[in-house]
Amino acid sequence: MFSFEFFPPKTAKGEKILWQGIRRVEALRPDFVSVTYGAGGSSREKTVAVTRRIAAETTLRPVAHLTAVGHSMAELRHIIGQYADAGIRDVLALRGDPPGDPRGLWTAHPQGFRYAYELVELLCSLGDFRIGVAAFPERHPRSPDWDSDIRHFVDKCRAGADYAITQMFFQVEDYLRLRDRVAAAGCDTPIIPEIMPATDVRQISRFAELSGAAFPADLAHRLDAARDNPADGHRIGVDHATVMAERLLAEGAPGLHYITLNRSTAALEIHHNVLNSRSAQHALADHR
Ligand code: FAD
Repeated sequence: MFSFEFFPPKTAKGEKILWQGIRRVEALRPDFVSVTYGAGGSSREKTVAVTRRIAAETTLRPVAHLTAVGHSMAELRHIIGQYADAGIRDVLALRGDPPGDPRGLWTAHPQGFRYAYELVELLCSLGDFRIGVAAFPERHPRSPDWDSDIRHFVDKCRAGADYAITQMFFQVEDYLRLRDRVAAAGCDTPIIPEIMPATDVRQISRFAELSGAAFPADLAHRLDAARDNPADGHRIGVDHATVMAERLLAEGAPGLHYITLNRSTAALEIHHNVLNSRSAQHALADHR
C-alpha cells in the first residue's frame, strides 16, 4: 500500500503545480491521495474543492483531512455531507492545532469537539466512511506521558478508525517503538508511516515547530554542509528517506504515505528507489 499527500494551494501558480503533481502520481495508481485541511478560512473551502475535483476528474481515491478546530458540530456535519454528496467516503479525522501557533492554547469550539475520537464517532454515525486517524511516533507533543498517549490513541482507533497515518519522523526506531506499544495495548489498527523528504537544512526548524520530531544530528550536519547546493541537499534527503522507507517495509510497516509538498519530485524519486528494491516491492504489494 502506498499513498501521497497534497495541500490546497493559495495561488494560481500553486494550483498548476498541484495538478501537475496529482497527474504524475495518478500514473502510479496509488491506493489513495490525501488533501490536508487548512487552519482556517478559504484554505478550508479549497480542501473541499480540491478533494471533490480529484474524485470527479481523476481515477484516484481521495482522502479528505478534516479537523475539529474552530468548527461546530453542525459545520462538521455539513462538510461531511458535502463529501458524501461527491461520493467521497474517506476522511482522515483530526483534532487539529490552534491556528497561527501550533503550540498555542487549544480551545474547543463551544458547540464542537475537544478530541479527534469525537470526530471519528460523528463520521461513524453519519455513514459508511473509511476513517483514518493520526499517530505520533514521538508521542503527541501535548501528551504528558506515553501511557496516556497510547491509551487515547487506542481509544480513538476503537471509536471506529480503520487505519492511522503517522506524523513525520526521521528515525525508524521511533515508529517501531510506537507500533510495539500500540500492539502491546491490544490494538491492531494498521499504522502507516509518513515519509517526509528533508532536503534543505532550513526546513528543520519548521519540522520541529509542526511536529516536534527529533532530527538526527548527522543528517542535519550533512544538510548543513549542502546548504548552498540544492542538488546535494536533495540527494541527501532522498537517500535518507529511501533507506528509512525500505527498512520500515522490511520491519513490516503496512505501507508508505509520502508527503509531496505538491511538486512530488522527491516523493516520486523515493518511491521509484523503493520499487527498485525487490523485497520492498513485495511488501508494498502484500498489503494491498
Ligand atoms: P487527538 O487524538 O484528539 O489527540 C490530541 C491530544 O489529546 C493528545 O495528546 C491525546 O493523547 C490527547 N487526548 C485524546 N483523547 C483524550 C481524552 N479523551 N482525554 C484526554 N486527552 C486526550 N492538522 C491540520 O490542521 N490539518 C491537516 O490536514 C493535518 N493533517 C495531519 C495528518 C497527519 C498524518 C498527522 C499525523 C497530523 C495532521 N495534522 C493536521 C496535525 C494534527 O491535527 C495535530 O497533530 C493535532 O495536534 C493532533 O490531532 P489528533 O487528531 O491526533 O488529536
